[in-house]
Amino acid sequence: MAFEGLTGRLQSVFSKLRGKGKVSEDDVNEAMREVRLALLEADVNFKVVKDFVAKVKEKAIGKEVMESFTPGMVIIDIVNKELTELMGGSQAKLAKANKPPTVIMMAGLQGAGKTTTSGKLAKLLQKGNHRPLLVAGDIYRPAAIKQLQVLGEQIKAPVFSLGDKTSPVEIAKQGLQHAKDNNLDYVIIDTAGRLHIDEDLMEELKQIHAAVNPDEVLLVVDAMTGQDAVNVADSFNKQLELTGVVLTKLDGDTRGGAALSVKAVTGCPIKFAALGEKIDALEPFHPERMASRILG
Ligand code: GDP
Repeated sequence: MAFEGLTGRLQSVFSKLRGKGKVSEDDVNEAMREVRLALLEADVNFKVVKDFVAKVKEKAIGKEVMESFTPGMVIIDIVNKELTELMGGSQAKLAKANKPPTVIMMAGLQGAGKTTTSGKLAKLLQKGNHRPLLVAGDIYRPAAIKQLQVLGEQIKAPVFSLGDKTSPVEIAKQGLQHAKDNNLDYVIIDTAGRLHIDEDLMEELKQIHAAVNPDEVLLVVDAMTGQDAVNVADSFNKQLELTGVVLTKLDGDTRGGAALSVKAVTGCPIKFAALGEKIDALEPFHPERMASRILG
């Protein structure tokens, strides 16, 4: 289960606090020292942890909290609120173009879950009575086009492909035109990933961006990779102006670092969470629910 270690650690810190009728400054300092270690162990970015602990301390150490009837509970509540803030505060919704179609460009490293997420997102949009078009822009990974077509068949969403001999920029442009011609209101462009960030990849993504002027640029990152996911997001964001992040593989035993750091480090909100390989396993990301889940 995701966050298991972190949840267990936090629960043991808080069970000590909860039992206390009075909380001293030393108690708070000791508790926050343990929270700090728990977050670092969960692979949360060092600076994020430092700021987080400072904020919670500032709010927790004060007459109002310490003289309340249940200081322990009040402190847990402060932690819950700060965790929620850390992950963006409130739900960041998907953008919608004034004039359809809304264009969503998917980006990410190979294996992060881009193609799968494209299919899942199309399914989610269909549930909201939309008509998405999937555009097969990953012409380099041998199975990517076929994979998208299979996903499209599964959910009965059209898939636009020009095979693997036409440039992704051209595919994206023609895909957008195809959506306009066929009254489809969302265009989801699957793009190529590489094993590592490289200049060719970025250049291609920039060209696609310039060609279709997307309403959303969603970076798909594998939550299991922790701090690496955050670094990847940071690098992409510096070059591509992301509008949101999709965290995948939250069903795995991710420690939590990516979920808790990515917004603070990149400024980019997490818009969706993927919790499995199945086509239904994508949901809008709710910071407050995730914070409650982490606290257990
Ligand atoms: P791409 O290279 O970024 O397009 O990655 P794919 O979409 O092909 O996904 C790579 C692998 O990760 C596939 O085996 C997917 O089934 C798997 N995958 C994607 N999202 C999730 C997820 O949320 N949970 C789990 N457990 N597996 C996922």
